[in-house]
Amino acid sequence: MAETVQSVDPRTGQAGPTYPASTPSDVRVAVTASAQAVGSPAWRDDERRAAFLRGAAARLREADGEIVALVQSETGLPEGRAVGELERTCRQLEAFADLVDAGDYVDAMIDTADPGAQPIPRPDVRRMLVPIGPVAVFGASNFPLAFGVAGGDTASALAAGCPVVAKGHPSHPGTSEAVAACLDAARADAGLPDGAFALVQGPGNDVGEALVDAPAIAAVGFTGSLAAGRALYERAARRPEPIPVYAEMGSVNPVVVTEGALAERADAIAEQLAGAVSFAAGQLCTKPGVVLVPEGASGEAFAQAVVDRLGAAGPQVMLNDRLRSSLGDRVQDLDADGNVQRLTPDGGAAEPGLRFDPLAFRAPAAAVRASRDLLEERFGPVVLLVTYASEDELLETAGVLEGQLTATIHAGAQEAELRRSLTDALSERVGRLIYDGVPTGVAVSTAMHHGGPYPATTAPAHTSVGMTAIARFLRPVAWQNAPQDVLPPALQDGNPLGIWRSVDGQLTRD
Ligand code: NAP
Repeated sequence: MAETVQSVDPRTGQAGPTYPASTPSDVRVAVTASAQAVGSPAWRDDERRAAFLRGAAARLREADGEIVALVQSETGLPEGRAVGELERTCRQLEAFADLVDAGDYVDAMIDTADPGAQPIPRPDVRRMLVPIGPVAVFGASNFPLAFGVAGGDTASALAAGCPVVAKGHPSHPGTSEAVAACLDAARADAGLPDGAFALVQGPGNDVGEALVDAPAIAAVGFTGSLAAGRALYERAARRPEPIPVYAEMGSVNPVVVTEGALAERADAIAEQLAGAVSFAAGQLCTKPGVVLVPEGASGEAFAQAVVDRLGAAGPQVMLNDRLRSSLGDRVQDLDADGNVQRLTPDGGAAEPGLRFDPLAFRAPAAAVRASRDLLEERFGPVVLLVTYASEDELLETAGVLEGQLTATIHAGAQEAELRRSLTDALSERVGRLIYDGVPTGVAVSTAMHHGGPYPATTAPAHTSVGMTAIARFLRPVAWQNAPQDVLPPALQDGNPLGIWRSVDGQLTRD
């Protein structure tokens, strides 16, 4: 009997419809078609690709009722979140269409010949970015739309000119199918070949492994766990032709709260923090998981304010049983650790469905420095407050953190020097620093960086959110002393595309 992917409604724990699973042979067929699409003239036409991206957004908006209902029934995310995420996904697709239209993303550079250059004459060298080839995209469980089969990885890869074979997350197979149908219809509307986009899905690792192994796949975009990201990274490195894996993985997103900040606005910080820990059941890669707070009366009062607010949030629906049980294991580890104190009462498997009570724990900074386990990600509505005795101990503890997507600093108006020291210590370890706020809610903008040193990602030079995410799926080619007729339009003397280029070091559209 053919394999299927089983959907489950996490709000009730009840099984829903099943969906057909792909086989490794289906994966090979999809990848072969994607390799054929790369060479097709239609696919190389920027206007058609931009139309495809805009058409996909329009199709998704047309199907919003069906998609929002599917998202809710497969993830337990509330309607408002599903509606907002769908619109974010559409805008992301449209923003990448605008990037294709503008054309500057190819980063054209021209160094004209200089026969008199010393110590040797300089040739005419022209460089631009070209698509890397078919991309495998692994959708995330926690953003079924914005990081799903039509999410940021897919939008940026398609914009770059790379066909996509997306692996749907097994936690929301119906959502993945409905979104893929919109993409496929938009692809056909734009007159693009079949191989420009395909969805594969299946339970277990076979489908994902076959995708990474497929010789024509040139890069992988992944969002998910450290274990899976690392496994795919190593698998890709073992291929006869290794390929880059852009894996965005876990993070504890440390938040620092100083005495000065507590004196000025303890309640406001507690409110923001508890909201960020419990929102979407804490299943966000940017959820603050570790919060450094001062020892003593102000830190105690702050901890209580956080605990009260987490308690008021009540049990939260988790995305799937695997995430709920793995969070339960992590919580058991904390309970078993003699250095860790549980601040919230009970919790765990609240009913009905797949729910988890928001929880807060506390440990001294010395224990955290001594045990890396305490700094592991707990994916869900759980936060560890880490108490420090002095500014020196705070900085020492910041110094043991591993690579993170984000870090957040709450300091007082009179603590400029401490804020500067924290900024220096944390910027060495993170992809984004936030001041007086929370790390959740990642804006899709040109300057956004959603990445960070390992283990936050496998590619610290790149982002998976924002317009520069396109760079992951492009590679530079330089043409030396090339005749005009072989050069791509982006590099020809007359600048027929009218794009911004660096000519002899000067940015110009001439
Ligand atoms: P996951 O377990 O990492 O799985 C992500 C995808 O990779 C799924 O499609 C999964 O499909 C596939 N996969 C996993 N292991 C594989 C392997 N060895 N070979 C081939 N494919 C493999 O992600 P998840 O289910 O979302 O798990 C949640 C964990 O991911 C959380 O605990 C959290 O730490 C992390 N997470 C991080 C982010 C982020 O933004 N960085 C977002 C969501 C989750 P199969 O299960 O079908 O193999």
